[in-house]
Amino acid sequence: MRGREQNHSAPLVPEWLILGKNPLLMGLFGAMLDFLFPLRCEGCGREGAYLCEMCLYALPRARAAREPWIAAIYEYRSPAVQGALWKLKYRGVADIAGLFGKILYDLARLNFAPQNLGGRALLDVAEKDALKNHGKISLVPVPLSERKARERGYNQAELLARAMAREDAEGLFSLELALLARTKDGRSQMSIRDRSAREANVRGAFAAHETAKGRRIVLVDDIATTGATLRAARDALLAAGAREVTAVVVAH
Ligand SMILES: [Zn+2]
Repeated sequence: MRGREQNHSAPLVPEWLILGKNPLLMGLFGAMLDFLFPLRCEGCGREGAYLCEMCLYALPRARAAREPWIAAIYEYRSPAVQGALWKLKYRGVADIAGLFGKILYDLARLNFAPQNLGGRALLDVAEKDALKNHGKISLVPVPLSERKARERGYNQAELLARAMAREDAEGLFSLELALLARTKDGRSQMSIRDRSAREANVRGAFAAHETAKGRRIVLVDDIATTGATLRAARDALLAAGAREVTAVVVAH
């Protein structure tokens, strides 16, 4: 689904000079990083990956969500989950986003794609028509404020949503980055312990674009502890006329 996002004007630099498009440069760069910063598993400390497969499957699965419209993969109390999410948030580790993005995609497809479509690799013609008529489901990463986005250089929720869109060979979802904006910068939710204070901190923090009207939307974020941020984002989208708003998160 990448091709759709690219514009078709002439590239500014020759393609072989772009790191991601040159396997030789990528290889050298990767080898240098591996030498300087050997990858260590967040779970067991073994070298070779941010999370080795064994630890990934051993991570505690999320209990049932408090809200039926939120689906989570993992239990946030697990130190290995916290470690991986911390890296995603503050170091922008794309590998972790890719890893979690795959699982989030399945979660969104199974829970929130049109009924009777979930969980199947192939759709028959009638199902494809039905999907076309309903339109794609919009994937909306929970946005950062412009200031925070500038400071950090990326949005971890957007990394996850992009990884999900890359998994979407069936074309169930469309990545939408302009439907929702964060207009108010509260304190970090993580620094507030009280539930109602968290609600107040994000109340009115989001503004939805009018084109949200009539859409089915899946919000994407890394963590939902009390769900206050997701609720505020959902309220803004529903107020703009969205038909249905659900959410997937890595941990809660
Ligand atoms: Zn491990």
